Amino acid sequence: MTANPPYPDIRSLWQETVSRRPVFDALTGGHQFDVAIIGGGYTGLSTARYLARRGLCAVVLEASQIGWGASGRNGGVVSGKFRLSFSDIGARYGVETARRMHDLGIEAIDHVGELVEDYGIASADYRPTGALRCAHNQISLDSLKKEVAWLKTALGDHACSILSTEQMQAETGSRDFVGGMLNTHGGVIHPLNFVLGMAAGLKAAGIAIHERSPVTAIRRDRDGVVLETPGGTVSAAQVVIATNSYSDLTPATSAVRKSLIPFRSAMIATAPLTGNPGEGLLSQRRSYTETRRMMRWFRRAGDRLIYGGRGAFGKSDSDNAFAALHKAMVRQFPDLASVSVTHRWSGLVAMTMDSIPHLGRFDDRVIYAVGYNGTGVALASNMGRYVAAMIAGEKPDLGLLTCVPLKPVPLYPIREPAVRLVAGWYQFLDAIGR
Ligand SMILES: Cc1cc2nc3c(=O)[nH]c(=O)nc-3n(C[C@H](O)[C@H](O)[C@H](O)COP(=O)(O)OP(=O)(O)OC[C@H]3O[C@@H](n4cnc5c(N)ncnc54)[C@H](O)[C@@H]3O)c2cc1C
Repeated sequence: MTANPPYPDIRSLWQETVSRRPVFDALTGGHQFDVAIIGGGYTGLSTARYLARRGLCAVVLEASQIGWGASGRNGGVVSGKFRLSFSDIGARYGVETARRMHDLGIEAIDHVGELVEDYGIASADYRPTGALRCAHNQISLDSLKKEVAWLKTALGDHACSILSTEQMQAETGSRDFVGGMLNTHGGVIHPLNFVLGMAAGLKAAGIAIHERSPVTAIRRDRDGVVLETPGGTVSAAQVVIATNSYSDLTPATSAVRKSLIPFRSAMIATAPLTGNPGEGLLSQRRSYTETRRMMRWFRRAGDRLIYGGRGAFGKSDSDNAFAALHKAMVRQFPDLASVSVTHRWSGLVAMTMDSIPHLGRFDDRVIYAVGYNGTGVALASNMGRYVAAMIAGEKPDLGLLTCVPLKPVPLYPIREPAVRLVAGWYQFLDAIGR
């Protein structure tokens, strides 16, 4: 992806296998819109889609290129889960809140299929193959069993089942798991082709999108807001901040930045496995996540295997993080020891203090939709329908996403060492099997 400076190129597998990149001019001159959207990822684009459906005229302003943020470089796992399990949400906030959140997740997954269909994004290669949680020890397996039972009895969701050690070995090709939880909701997608397909569909529908147009300031005037970019300005009644973990590119979005903890997530892709060791691994082509706190995940993409995981806070890619991922991959899939790694890349996920994404307003002119905590492919690409509802003056009920306010990160200036400390503690707990 050739993103202009100061936005570094991303050398991902997705970038190498991108099908078609629509081109969008930078903003020049002064323009008037009903709504200005900052950020050209899933959240910003889905907001433009649903505003158009309500007859409102919106513009999407992207600092770099569409999909340069997390939307074009993520793992492509389509999931409706949150960082908190639904049973945890039920215990803390009540079963009805858990039900609303669960419904939201299912709706978001279904919506991915709708977007692919509506915009004809065959290149997104969406496969609703489900998700497998892989238990690394008995304690984790026991809690997966409890979750499956709770989902059935409390929410009536029968899509989840427990797999035995033998079934896990047959499913994954690894001997590393004592059992697992198969969830038939969700699947996998090519994330960059998905976001570019959305943008191409919006462009065809006449929606204004500008790349290389970083919003450097948001000013207020008598009627609304004025957004400044290097080449032009946009006046609008309302502005939507959809910049998630990349909210520190300019000071314009500092209001949300201070409530988000950026956590680096990295991944590696193997060379094609066809005719190589490991060819039969992950044969069902699902998404696979471990139960360790410093979660690793894996999937197939074409004939390659992709392996990813969270690292501690870091300003850029680190050789050590990639080496640790490779080591973990080979430990879990010894067949891959002799297979070379062809791609390595990373990006930032936006964690929130309460582990929940947030949709809300700072005031009558500024709306934000951020904080997906690493699971935004489905949720963010469905968020626009609710942002649009809020802009139209409605009060959508998204469970915890709308009823709990976005909290600032305490001691924000020392977040980097704090995240490293937490990551180290999680690694320790994983290492001792807790
Ligand atoms: C490595 C990685 C792996 C992940 N894996 C998964 C996964 O498998 N499944 C899953 O569900 N989720 C995953 N996620 C999370 C998911 O990608 C995000 O939650 C989702 O993409 C968020 O979309 P967004 O549109 O809100 O933000 P983004 O896609 O990050 O878009 C924000 C955009 O705002 C732009 N921007 C910032 N400041 C400005 C400004 N001042 N002016 C104009 N534009 C600006 C940025 O350039 C950026 O393009 C992953 C994330 C990462 C980083």
